[in-house]
Amino acid sequence: MGRKTKGVIRERKDYTGLLLELQGKSPSPPPQPVADASEHKTPYSPYRQRIMSDEAVKYLYSKRGGPFHDKSCPKAQHIPDEELGYSEKYLSNISQCPLCAVKAYVRLGAKDFYNYPLYEKLFRRMRFTPVLLRRMYVNEKIRTSASSNGLTIWGKEDSWRLEFWDGSDTMRLMHNNYYPLPDGTRIFTGGYHLQAERATANYAFTAISGYTYADHKAAMLKREQEQFALKVDALPEGFSAEKDDLSGAKKKVFWVWKKFIELLRKFFRK
Ligand SMILES: [Zn+2]
Repeated sequence: MGRKTKGVIRERKDYTGLLLELQGKSPSPPPQPVADASEHKTPYSPYRQRIMSDEAVKYLYSKRGGPFHDKSCPKAQHIPDEELGYSEKYLSNISQCPLCAVKAYVRLGAKDFYNYPLYEKLFRRMRFTPVLLRRMYVNEKIRTSASSNGLTIWGKEDSWRLEFWDGSDTMRLMHNNYYPLPDGTRIFTGGYHLQAERATANYAFTAISGYTYADHKAAMLKREQEQFALKVDALPEGFSAEKDDLSGAKKKVFWVWKKFIELLRKFFRK
């Protein structure tokens, strides 16, 4: 055999290619190796195997310092067994590894962590930044579930929908329906009503994390009172009590109270 030329002399096991070459047709590409045996992962020690298979364990870190990891993070694999710390809870006092941050936050707050690939897609489309996700899941302890057209988000007391509509990337924020009861509590009546026709991730977060029904009621009452104060300033002529005219002053007070109670009634009917 003469001098070997690169790429030409190759030991042949399959002659189909050769046949095609002889016929002037291009041979099929060489078969890909099925698996690269040299790339196999180091097997976990029994200690680590026990930690990794424990579903309650969600996070890993090194007891000697360094960042906090989602248990799936490849960087956590480099922590030696003797330094390996693990946690069921999210430990916010340890700085988060940026590589696994979003996954760690979703593992913390999602009711459907198995939907993680969908979350990644939604967050990109909805423009949620890791910083915003941290505030949402870690600081505000917000819970979520994902569907193809948006997120259901549970805030302090209420549930919300941040969803795409109009067949575009435009998002709207929906708020759960409720009926107020005279004792100041509510019953949730199912379904959602429109809260904002155009919402960004930031807007939704601010609206949801800031909302409690008590604050909402207080804000509504304050607004009613302010509007009412404006009306009192513009009392009709007949009510301008003259000096020393006690009955006029009493009438004014009575009128003020009557209006105030009317407003309260109106408010609680809402
Ligand atoms: Zn990590």
